[in-house]
Amino acid sequence: MKQSDLFTKTRKEAPKDEVSRNAQLLTMAGFVHKEMAGVYTYLPLGLRALRKIENIIREEMNAIGGQEMLMTTLQDPELWKKTDRWVSEDVDPSTGMPWFKTELASGGELGIANTHEEALTNIMKNHIASYKDLPKYPYQIQNKFRNEFRAKSGLMRGREFLMKDLYSFTRTNEELEDFYEKCAEAYMRIFKRAGLGDITYRTFASGGSFSKFSDEFQTLSEAGEDTIYLDEKKNIAVNKEVYTDDILEELSLDKKNLKEVKAIEVGNIFRLGTKFSEALGLTYTDDSGNENPVVMGSYGIGLGRLMGTVVEVYNDENGIIWPEEIAPFKVHLLSLSSEGEPKKQADEIYEKLLADGVEVLYDNRQDTSAGQKFAEADLIGIPYRVVVSKKSLKSGGVEIKQRGTDDAKVISVDELFKTV
Ligand code: ATP
Ligand code: MG
Repeated sequence: MKQSDLFTKTRKEAPKDEVSRNAQLLTMAGFVHKEMAGVYTYLPLGLRALRKIENIIREEMNAIGGQEMLMTTLQDPELWKKTDRWVSEDVDPSTGMPWFKTELASGGELGIANTHEEALTNIMKNHIASYKDLPKYPYQIQNKFRNEFRAKSGLMRGREFLMKDLYSFTRTNEELEDFYEKCAEAYMRIFKRAGLGDITYRTFASGGSFSKFSDEFQTLSEAGEDTIYLDEKKNIAVNKEVYTDDILEELSLDKKNLKEVKAIEVGNIFRLGTKFSEALGLTYTDDSGNENPVVMGSYGIGLGRLMGTVVEVYNDENGIIWPEEIAPFKVHLLSLSSEGEPKKQADEIYEKLLADGVEVLYDNRQDTSAGQKFAEADLIGIPYRVVVSKKSLKSGGVEIKQRGTDDAKVISVDELFKTV
């Protein structure tokens, strides 16, 4: 893409009302636009990074048997009354849900979905009858709406945000356990591919409806809202919310080996058991003809939170440093001349990179100074910066530098194509 065609502009100053680093940088670099607290639009660069994240998640979910679908935002209150989850947090903060609700013009309330256990359990009643129909793993990547009390962490805590939510429908607890572990491994692959592998830990957290624990995936960061106790050797952690002497004993963890750290919950998986299937009447007949409730689990990842986390972790004073797999482009090509041989070379390199299928943002702007181009390239944070100028051509080619490193070097044009 030519930068002269990109409609977004960068800005030098962080918006005054943003306190979180991720929202500051993503706004300055032109990735997102804040509509109001906790509500963000993805601009073209932001959408490109988001799509990368989405595709990683989709690939990994498909690889463990996930089947993608898309459920509705508007929700029927009657379903939620059957599970006692129609009650709002403002009514009962301990058991209530963070609802946004609305009303039909013709009268009657509707819900705006904050999660989809009820809706999907009800749908599956039409599709699951016998043990032969199980197991099944539907999922979606869809906007959720939550009336969060505070929205202060930029993309990491929104009131409208994209979530991947997968739900498992299995015959037995063993079958649930089997998939649960598979999904936990897939989650670690996702976070690794997003660049967070070395600093993301599976963490024991409060369990929800069925089991004692759920598993959170916590990425170490000072910007995190959660406190966890980490055993680096054993590669596991415990969330402060379940941290007691009894629990440590149960998990065979020794206080001496635990480090208290701040972390961001990028994903969460739950064993649901039969809570939803029993409340909503989702059953299957087993091979002896007996009717049993279906055993369920739910598995979430917030895509915006994941993007925000990556930005919190990978930045410097000049801007974002995108990990390669989720960067909006792989190469940022900067042309410093508006005419002559350098301009011609830069145009040719751009066309050839495109023809080779390399994702490249081409800063071909004529009215922008070299200094401004360098500053914007650092702010946007694309992994490879490639500069074509009179000077670089004189030294034998183009200057290439990886974002986040200082070692710019001149390589030949042939070598450039081999490198990227
Ligand atoms: P939290 O404890 O942070 O409020 P949660 O436990 O309520 O989150 P889940 O219902 O487990 O969240 O949602 C699954 C995933 O969706 C979370 O792990 C997180 O990545 C993401 N998520 C949850 N709430 C938000 C939000 N308000 N904004 C962005 N992402 C969110
Ligand atoms: Mg959670």
